[in-house]
Amino acid sequence: MKYGVNDLGYYGDFGGAYIPEMLYPNIEELREQYLKIIDDPAFKAEYDDLLKNYVGRPSPLYHAKRYSEKYGANIFFKREDLNHTGSHKINNAIGQILLAKRLGKKRIIAETGAGQHGVATATVCALMGIECVVYMGEIDMARQAPNVSRMKMLGATVIPAMSGSKTLKDATNEALRDWIANPVDTHYIIGSVVGPYPYPDMVARFQSIISLETKKQLLEETGNELPQYVMACVGGGSNAMGMFYHFLDDENVKLVAVEAAGKGVDSGHSAATTFLGREGVLHGSRTILMQTDDGQVVEPYSISAGLDYPGIGPQHAYLYKINRAQYVSITDDEALQAGLLCSQLEGIIPAIETAHALAYLEKMQFKKDDNVVICISGRGDKDLDTYIKYFGY
Ligand SMILES: *Cc1c(COP(=O)(O)O)cnc(C)c1O
Repeated sequence: MKYGVNDLGYYGDFGGAYIPEMLYPNIEELREQYLKIIDDPAFKAEYDDLLKNYVGRPSPLYHAKRYSEKYGANIFFKREDLNHTGSHKINNAIGQILLAKRLGKKRIIAETGAGQHGVATATVCALMGIECVVYMGEIDMARQAPNVSRMKMLGATVIPAMSGSKTLKDATNEALRDWIANPVDTHYIIGSVVGPYPYPDMVARFQSIISLETKKQLLEETGNELPQYVMACVGGGSNAMGMFYHFLDDENVKLVAVEAAGKGVDSGHSAATTFLGREGVLHGSRTILMQTDDGQVVEPYSISAGLDYPGIGPQHAYLYKINRAQYVSITDDEALQAGLLCSQLEGIIPAIETAHALAYLEKMQFKKDDNVVICISGRGDKDLDTYIKYFGY
């Protein structure tokens, strides 16, 4: 694949594995094993069976008629919100738990922002009967309380991350610390296309089911497997990478990645990484991240916990730098309005993360025959409190 990872774990200048010495054996084991394991027919059969019968795949590709009318193009929603546990995160969690089992691991750790990855991980750990510890920023635990309860109900231990901005970046640091302390029996299920190689490639492969299905579904619906536009929101970038993956080499398909501008890109309260960031190393890979002049990570801000991250995955940094995908951003207000619009035009309450992608439709110009696919990365149940407070219902 032209835009895929090279043998050294890089996408152009980005990627690699910048890790402390003590993580080296874990990462080396993964690097040696991951492709062998996931290309194994028995693994594939088990993965596909769980996706179908447990997650409920394929997820529908829904032709959103009222959206199409409003925006003057054929708008399709790829319904990852209908997956078991309510987002795309379960595609990756199932893949990684099956991998962890084959590596003989007895304990799973994860970080989570919105709680969706934590819930997906706690779910698959319950399914497999494996111990699960989830790190979550203290602030995220408060704003995503229903997901904290869900994880506990599923039998996971949730540990608050109390440092820094008490959000996703800090939870990721805590999880990495745990992994260093427990290198032999523990697998770390990273929830996005971030982290040291091979994680970005591994997670992208597990999420690529999204675009694989979309191509087939589009061919059936429109007679052409290629749309004009593919759009998704970007926190670390896993739903976007899954949505882009099988379109990357189709150069005529325009890829639009929507980041969180928070209160505005120049407000000092933002998570618009490509706009505000520079190249550097974050959580084990060389990428683009928000940092001060002397290289300290800048605390990100977004109303949506899943997009509140100061970096993006290295493959996104690469696609941004070479202009294969367009990176844009949407403010809190614009996203919340889009969430309301989608609820009232299509009867679908989207996650606030997803609402960022939907909001960008307002800023695009379409031809009337354009086919546009948007990844509906998750459902809005977890965000009802935030929506309700904002709209004052
Ligand atoms: C976690 C999450 C995101 C952001 O993560 P990516 O890795 O960028 O996909 C987006 N939407 C939902 C619903 C999420 O749960």
